[in-house]
Amino acid sequence: MARILVTGGTGYIGSHTTVELMQAGYDVTIVDNLMNSNIDVLDGIAAIVGRRPDYENIDCLDYVALDKMFEKYADIVGIIHFAASKAVGESVEKPLLYYRNNLNSLINLLELMPVHKVKHIVFSSSCTVYGQPDADHLPVDETAPIKPALSPYGNTKQICEEIIHDAIHAKSPITAIILRYFNPIGAHPSALIGELPNGIPNNLLPYVTQTAMGIRKELSIFGNDYNTPDGTCVRDYIDVVDLAKAHVVALKRMIDGKQDDKIEIFNLGTGRGLSVLEIVETFKRVNNVDVPYKIVGRREGDIEQVWAKPDKANKVLGWKAERTIEETLRSSWQWQQHLNNMQKPD
Ligand code: UDP
Repeated sequence: MARILVTGGTGYIGSHTTVELMQAGYDVTIVDNLMNSNIDVLDGIAAIVGRRPDYENIDCLDYVALDKMFEKYADIVGIIHFAASKAVGESVEKPLLYYRNNLNSLINLLELMPVHKVKHIVFSSSCTVYGQPDADHLPVDETAPIKPALSPYGNTKQICEEIIHDAIHAKSPITAIILRYFNPIGAHPSALIGELPNGIPNNLLPYVTQTAMGIRKELSIFGNDYNTPDGTCVRDYIDVVDLAKAHVVALKRMIDGKQDDKIEIFNLGTGRGLSVLEIVETFKRVNNVDVPYKIVGRREGDIEQVWAKPDKANKVLGWKAERTIEETLRSSWQWQQHLNNMQKPD
């Protein structure tokens, strides 16, 4: 069976995708420098799948090390590129770090692909490229205009998409699928892998689970005066396992030569918008646990409401988000409990 390179494979979405790839029969080489993840994730993957992915501790900025890695694993046929810096706030403070990490990693891979005859790449992008879509573009499909990015992080996603376009336009012998994620949440149903936030979480779900666990005193809900049904922001929360499966389908589409274009773009979401309050209340109900919260002021740069029109992915990829929000929110809580048990002293 073919081998896939997963950069950032010990990260949140990367680890879940590695599991789905291996369960679909692919061999996987993970390249990760562990700057925002933990090596123990490999044990979690092995416990779920029953075999270990190959792992190389390489920074994707290191062209020479990547080159050697491609020589070592000469059977790599495709890449799923997750490795990137992803904290929006940090990117505002350290823009050059973000541009260097996110752009140069991709450029290294795109340069090395033809050298090693690797034909296919899946690029992990984000719905942030749409900014706040106009009312007539909600839900958002892939034709919605790209808005100026609100952060260097968002800008790196836009520029990376353009880099891939330009490389293919210049007749690079590769094909690409760009996946624009909405809000990935949840964890593997085994509770053996999940999201491992660094320090105080920025994202909603890790903050909710840590508050439920008593690690944080209360959740701050950023604003309830938005023009939405209950005043809190609306997002399209997509289960991380559903998201991971979309990567396997996208890769297979390229390997099977089924693409309509050498570069294709898909929105990955559920098609359902949920408010912050709906998430918190559903989490409390399905897990029978309290989440103390207070309403505070709006968070700078937050988008009021955005959710996906996933019809293109549904029809063309034959992929659909399947897990219910209740299942997903249960899996988040189970993962938080697993983490808590792991971290308890003996
Ligand atoms: N949010 C919140 N409190 C938090 C973290 C997030 O109210 O501690 C809200 C945030 O304002 C947004 C939603 O939850 O409306 C999702 O935020 P997240 O940072 O997870 O994703 P993104 O902003 O990238 O959509």
